[in-house]
Amino acid sequence: MAQGLLGEKRPLAGFLDADGIRESVAALEDAFAAEPGVQVLHTFAAKAASLIPVLRLLADCGMGCEVAGPGELRLAVEAGFTPARIVLDSPAKTRDELRLALALGVAVNADSFGEIRRIEEIRSPGSASVLGLRVNPQVGGGSIGAMSTATATSKFGVALRDPGAREQVVRTFAERPWLTRLHAHVGSQGCSLQLIAAGIAETYRLAEEVNEVVGVRRITGIDIGGGLPVNFADDEARPAFADYVAALRAEAPGLFDGRYDLVTEFGRSLLAKNGFIGARVEYTKDAGGRRIALTHAGAQIATRTVFMPDAWPLRVGVFDGEGRPRNGPSMVQDIAGPCCFAGDVVAHARELPELREGDFVVLYDTGAYYFSTPWAYNSLPRPAVYGFAGGTGGLRFAPVREAQSLDSVAAESGLHHAGALTGLYEKP
Ligand SMILES: *Cc1c(COP(=O)(O)O)cnc(C)c1O
Repeated sequence: MAQGLLGEKRPLAGFLDADGIRESVAALEDAFAAEPGVQVLHTFAAKAASLIPVLRLLADCGMGCEVAGPGELRLAVEAGFTPARIVLDSPAKTRDELRLALALGVAVNADSFGEIRRIEEIRSPGSASVLGLRVNPQVGGGSIGAMSTATATSKFGVALRDPGAREQVVRTFAERPWLTRLHAHVGSQGCSLQLIAAGIAETYRLAEEVNEVVGVRRITGIDIGGGLPVNFADDEARPAFADYVAALRAEAPGLFDGRYDLVTEFGRSLLAKNGFIGARVEYTKDAGGRRIALTHAGAQIATRTVFMPDAWPLRVGVFDGEGRPRNGPSMVQDIAGPCCFAGDVVAHARELPELREGDFVVLYDTGAYYFSTPWAYNSLPRPAVYGFAGGTGGLRFAPVREAQSLDSVAAESGLHHAGALTGLYEKP
């Protein structure tokens, strides 16, 4: 606020703690480095913070990048990841996307047998791409259905426990020397470490079975996905990456003995706690005995929280117009957003110091999947995002993404085709 990045004219912005991001990457690296026998490529799941400066910082930290479509692939290339450190996953890759990925030498995990057939048609023998197959170990779901990728009927990967599927996977590898990797991403927020580790252990046993049947080490790498859940209740990063490595070691010790190269694809656990949203309180009002603070942070920036408030609760901080924490007596308040539908509330009936017009609320732990993934509802412009570094020695800020201009909102809303529909009725 002292720097003018938040204020009456700039009522909403996202912030990213660059030092914190680097520390999170170091924690991930250290956790796996405790298992010295194994080669690991840590990739960042681009969808968790699809901002080129974030991706470049992560590339600079030595990470790779997991992408799920042409847009994310473009961002990864622009951010400076070399193709060998990029992994393409997505359940609906087109032939053109596959051609591009194979031409670049990006690793590709096929999501189905159908996709294996397409890759087989397209690939040239000289392609540098590492090619894998995603499986669904069907170990079950966590507490958030939409985040559970290993249920019996999940749309992702080859459903391993379906009749005949395991045998078909083994045959598929046996017949294709170019297929060398197994991939599983067992779940995200709401899934326990035990559940995720059980899914990875199942994938490891499948790799062992394939190599045993084929008689050579056909599978040389296992991509274990991401999905470490994040604690949204306080400041502590828990579970830690080290807890996850311990859970994996308990379930599948062979994973770390160096016979398989590993790939990881963490997203939320690297970024969530390293970002926050600042939003101005434009008005307060009372309705039916409830105090409501109308802020600029709603479904356009906290989409999951607004639509599934029980699954995605956020901590809220309260600050006055100068940025000082408010410590007054607390009262029950709703923190509402600017969108025009009644459910646009980011915190329901929360006990917080009384908010006033011109105050700011902070939504913590929103560095992943929040302001980096805005929703265009109500044609609300995308808010600016700033990064910062240098805590004790004086904070330095840098723009990561500019606030969207109204010209850009109009352009994205068909400005250049304004007469398209009326034109359909004009006489030629
Ligand atoms: C979303 C996703 C990830 C990252 O999940 P997080 O919960 O953010 O760690 C990794 N791999 C795949 C295939 C994904 O779809």
